[in-house]
Amino acid sequence: MSTARIIDGKLIAEGLREDVAAAVARMSRDHGVTPGLAVVLVGDNPASEVYVRNKDRQTRAAGMTSIEMKLPATTSERELLALVHELNRREDVDGILVQLPLPPHIDSGRVIEAIDPAKDVDGFHPINAGRLATGQPALVPCTPLGCIILAKSVQPDLTGLDAVVIGRSNIVGKPVARLLLGENCTVTVAHSKSRALPEIAARADLLIAAIGQPEFVRADWIKPGAIVIDVGINRVPGEGGKHRLVGDVHFEDARHVAGAITPVPGGVGPMTIACLLRNTLTAAAARRGIALAL
Ligand code: NDP
Repeated sequence: MSTARIIDGKLIAEGLREDVAAAVARMSRDHGVTPGLAVVLVGDNPASEVYVRNKDRQTRAAGMTSIEMKLPATTSERELLALVHELNRREDVDGILVQLPLPPHIDSGRVIEAIDPAKDVDGFHPINAGRLATGQPALVPCTPLGCIILAKSVQPDLTGLDAVVIGRSNIVGKPVARLLLGENCTVTVAHSKSRALPEIAARADLLIAAIGQPEFVRADWIKPGAIVIDVGINRVPGEGGKHRLVGDVHFEDARHVAGAITPVPGGVGPMTIACLLRNTLTAAAARRGIALAL
C-alpha cells in the first residue's frame, strides 16, 4: 500500500518565518523601519488568548514590534471603533488584527470595515476581499494563503489542476477558491447543500477541506495521488478523558490514497501566524513604497 508524503506545515512555517525575519532585518537596516503589528483582544476567550500570545511571541521573534491590546468584555462597539481609528492613524502600526470572535454586542463586520484596508493584515476587509476577487494585489487572508503555500510545496505550478474546496466561509473557503483561480486551477466550491459530495471530491487533483466536521472526508472520496490540504481543527474525546485534535479528513485512511496530505495538528495550523507576519511585512513595505524581495 502506498503512503502519502506528509506535508510538514511546521517546518514550512518555520522557513517562512525565517524569510520574514531576514526581510525585516533588511528593512530595518536599509530603511530604518521596524514593522509593527497591533493585535486587539476583547474579552477573555481562552482559545483567543492562546492565539494572541502565540502571535505576540512570533511577531517579536521575527524582529517586528508587537502591540498587544487587551480590552474587557464590557468594551462597547464605539470604544472599539475609536481604538481601531487610533491604530489606523498611528505611524508605527502597519498591521491591525482584531481577534475574532468578538462579544455578541459588537458587530464584527462594522469593526472589520473600520480597519484601514492598507493595515488589514487578516485580509477580511471588503476592499481586500474585492481586490482578491477581481485579481488585484490585496492583503490575503492568512489561512488560505497558507493552504496555497503548502500545496505549492508539493507542486510549485498548480496550473490546470482540478481543485475542489469543501467549505465556503469568508475566512477560508471563498478566499482559498479565489487564490486557486489565480493559480489557474479549475475550481469547484462545495458546501453543506452540495449534492453527491463524495463524487465531487473524487474529481480533485487538489482537495481542500475547510468544513469543521471531524474526519468527515473519507479515503474513498479521494482521487489516488491527490494533494489533500486539511484546514479543519476539531477537538474530539481522546484517551484518559483528554481531548485530541483531528482534521476534517480521516487522516489515517486518507494517507494511503492521497499523494500528499497535511496532518492535523502540524499542517495548515502553523502556517496561519507565519502568513500573518508575512502580511504585516507586505503592508509595512507597501505603505512606505519599499520594494520587497521575499
Ligand atoms: P465555517 O463554519 O464558517 O464554514 C464551514 C463551511 O463548511 C461552510 O461553508 C459549510 O457549508 C461547510 N459545511 C459544513 N458542514 C458541511 C457538510 N456536512 N457538508 C459539506 N459542507 C459542509 O468554518 P470556517 O471556514 O471558519 O472553518 C472551517 C474549519 O477550519 C474549522 O474546523 C476551523 O476550526 C478550521 N480553521 C482553521 C484555521 C487554521 O488552521 N488556522 C483557521 C480558520 C479555520 P454552508 O456554507 O452551506 O453552511
